[in-house]
Amino acid sequence: MSQEVLRGVYAQLSRAVERRDWAQALRLVDLLRQQLQDPAQLQKLESYRRQLESYRQVQGDPPPPQWPLLHKPFIGDFPVTNLFDHDLPLGKEDGNGRFVSGQGQVWTPSPQHPCGKSDGHAGYDWAMPVGTPILAAAPGRVTVARPEPEFFCPSLSRPVRGLRVRILHEGESPGGIRLETLYAHLSQIRVHEGQRVAAGEVIGLSGESGCASGPHLHFEVRRFDQTNSGQPAPVDPYGWFGAGLDPWSIHPLGAESLFLWQVGQAPSLGACWQAQQLPGLPGHRPAALERFKRRGG
Ligand SMILES: [Zn+2]
Repeated sequence: MSQEVLRGVYAQLSRAVERRDWAQALRLVDLLRQQLQDPAQLQKLESYRRQLESYRQVQGDPPPPQWPLLHKPFIGDFPVTNLFDHDLPLGKEDGNGRFVSGQGQVWTPSPQHPCGKSDGHAGYDWAMPVGTPILAAAPGRVTVARPEPEFFCPSLSRPVRGLRVRILHEGESPGGIRLETLYAHLSQIRVHEGQRVAAGEVIGLSGESGCASGPHLHFEVRRFDQTNSGQPAPVDPYGWFGAGLDPWSIHPLGAESLFLWQVGQAPSLGACWQAQQLPGLPGHRPAALERFKRRGG
């Protein structure tokens, strides 16, 4: 584990303690325990662990934080063509040729891969016909409803300006988590900046504007609170189902991902959820799969 990742683990640990999530704090301490070699540091960690255990016994597990829960951003089902890269979902800054899905599978992204074609992808892509109505995933305020700044798209070898909408969603209670959802490659925008929208309201039509190789919706979720850097960070709205810790949750720029869909509202991941259909990858964890199914995914 590199120094950088170690710093991410410490940041995540302090966040877990801050929100009194003792179970998560203990998991992180156990991860640190495997990494440290210095006996004095290990001894300190042991006594810290005992302290956390006693807090957990007295206080129990905390109520889950208030998150805005998401509504499906379109009607019907469309094939997923790209997942969230838990390795490093930072687009151009990534390029390390490694993709980690929310189920913990690792592969090399390629145009042929059914589910993870794009290294550093920060959201989900669903292929859909141009003109499909795109819906607000939660109540909120439109913060961006305009073409993005022009930039050079390598796959199209020309400058592009896609149409996109961003919506800010506040948690329902004080101390709730703020999220932003982003809808990209639209063909039409039907809202204006500053407008309040309800969940399920039409905000635009899907398209293939910007750096897109075909008609699809790029959907992204960013969380604003309790991130490792204190800055907004993209998260996976399907959460993390892999064995061990989510690499993005312990990255210095990362944040923990939780399953954020309302019951019955998670768009189907089709074959991209069926781990056993992906070539050469370890299987998923059945318990996590059951939990996912119960929540309506
Ligand atoms: Zn995308």
